[in-house]
Amino acid sequence: MSTAEEKRFQGTGVSPGIARGTVFVYRPDDEAAPSRRIEESEIPEEIARFETALIATRAQILEMQQRIAESIGAKDAGIFDAHLLVVEDRTLIDEVLRTLARDKMNVEHIFQNVAGRYAKTLSEIDDPYLRERALDIHDVTRRIIHNLMGKEARDLSSIGTPHILIAHNLAPSDTAQLDRTLVLAFATDVGSKTSHTAIMARSLNIPAVVGLHDASVQLSSGDHILLDGYNGLIIVNPSDQTLWEYGELEIKKTEVEEKLTHLRETASTTLDGRHVILSANIELPGDMEQVRQNGAEGVGLYRTEFFYLNKSELPTEEEQYAAYRQVAEAAAPHSVIIRTLDLGGDKFMSTLHMPEELNPFLGWRAIRFCLERVDVFKTQLRAILRASAGGNVKMMYPMISGVDELRRANVILEECRAELRAEGVPFSETMEVGAMIEIPSAAISADILAKEVSFFSIGTNDLIQYSIAVDRLNEHIAHLYEPTHPAIIRLIRMTVEAAHARNLWVGVCGEMAGDIVLTPLLLGLGVDELSAGAASVPRVKRAVQALDSAACAQLIADIQHLDTATAILAQCDAVARAHYPELL
Ligand code: PEP
Ligand code: MG
Repeated sequence: MSTAEEKRFQGTGVSPGIARGTVFVYRPDDEAAPSRRIEESEIPEEIARFETALIATRAQILEMQQRIAESIGAKDAGIFDAHLLVVEDRTLIDEVLRTLARDKMNVEHIFQNVAGRYAKTLSEIDDPYLRERALDIHDVTRRIIHNLMGKEARDLSSIGTPHILIAHNLAPSDTAQLDRTLVLAFATDVGSKTSHTAIMARSLNIPAVVGLHDASVQLSSGDHILLDGYNGLIIVNPSDQTLWEYGELEIKKTEVEEKLTHLRETASTTLDGRHVILSANIELPGDMEQVRQNGAEGVGLYRTEFFYLNKSELPTEEEQYAAYRQVAEAAAPHSVIIRTLDLGGDKFMSTLHMPEELNPFLGWRAIRFCLERVDVFKTQLRAILRASAGGNVKMMYPMISGVDELRRANVILEECRAELRAEGVPFSETMEVGAMIEIPSAAISADILAKEVSFFSIGTNDLIQYSIAVDRLNEHIAHLYEPTHPAIIRLIRMTVEAAHARNLWVGVCGEMAGDIVLTPLLLGLGVDELSAGAASVPRVKRAVQALDSAACAQLIADIQHLDTATAILAQCDAVARAHYPELL
């Protein structure tokens, strides 16, 4: 019998499912250490506390190093050698002791200031090695301060019992590290449906809610909650009535899911026989098991940048080749579309020292980065080309804004082909190379791009954010993020027409492809392929099977005269409900 009062927090559900459990609030603890004056007589005690904290920190780093060496490999654990050097850095330690004696303030305050200055000086020197050391100092400082303040230094992977993770924000690189056997669900104060953190949650099958504003402050570790990833709710101390209602909901959802599993071996073909390729989006090679289980027709978008995140060094050509081949083999006889590196925006790799930008989504991202870091780009292109020798690999460039970028990328690709030919290394000479259409300029000039590609894949997540000027991560303006905005429909239509005029196929790999309310719209617009998160594939397949081309064409005719996103969405919803009410 629950006694404490039930309390609800409303956010946005971004990954379906219901979880019940104990909260762990993750706070990266960048906050300022408390400060207080001390007496001369307290100085020895402060020094002793500092020494104890250094010893404890050293022990924690060694322990973590060993854990990572066992789970990922000695090479990745090497990153902690630099952390150990910080704990033993005499220049840093001596300056802390000198400043402590001079300023007579508590040691956490002194240490935070001295280490902060030290890191700042290093980060301003134009030397990648020293800038990297600045990051190490920042990490270790946090840990030492935790130890000084008597808090347990916890990171995301250090909680050994199942929990629901609550954080102000999680970077996609944090989410990629979550252990799905321990993290029952997660929720964040910020974020929205098409952030890569949300996309990753769906891939990992972890129920998630974002945009909760201040849940990370209101909730405490140890609270008992129910998280509803369908409706974006967190319920603290759920009452018996609430638990019963959710029990019923889970039974219903399980029944629907079970019915859908029977679709695995069936084709995504409409009632009147039009086949739409229904493939899956993946982030890591390990996702292929889900692709198979959900009956997807290969991989329509492989977000390769996740292979680069959380690594201390850039992946080599061999490592990438092995991953791409593994995916291609698992996808066979279907194909896999490997997207070249899309770093930047909300995905960063610390080794690359990408500068902090005011508008990262409008900045040095994806193909823009690759065209400058040709070394990084060529390593990946060679790996993709080599994986194409198996025959079922296609490749596409992200964030193409115009034909110049496409040509420059293709020149580099051609160089890689020439190198491999000269080395006698096999690859497919006929690998299809496509462009993502995710910038309005690309959609508007799709007829120009169509002359130089084999296919288009529309990245609606970015296309919407750039067309409506609505940051895809920002929960405050999430209501403006409207896939059915008439402008978006026009851009999709232009892209499809440009592709079909040259007999090219065109897919949609943004989150719109997995939204079954929009399936009639995309089919009506003439899209040939849909690539969605693996977990959404069965529902989309069922939706395609229940639709017919005439109904989709009628929908397009009916929305011609509608002028708002809401009105168009309502019309799509009506068609969806008429054809597959059980899924909605
Ligand atoms: C998109 O923008 O729609 C897309 C598929 O790419 P990403 O979500 O990785 O930016
Ligand atoms: Mg994109």
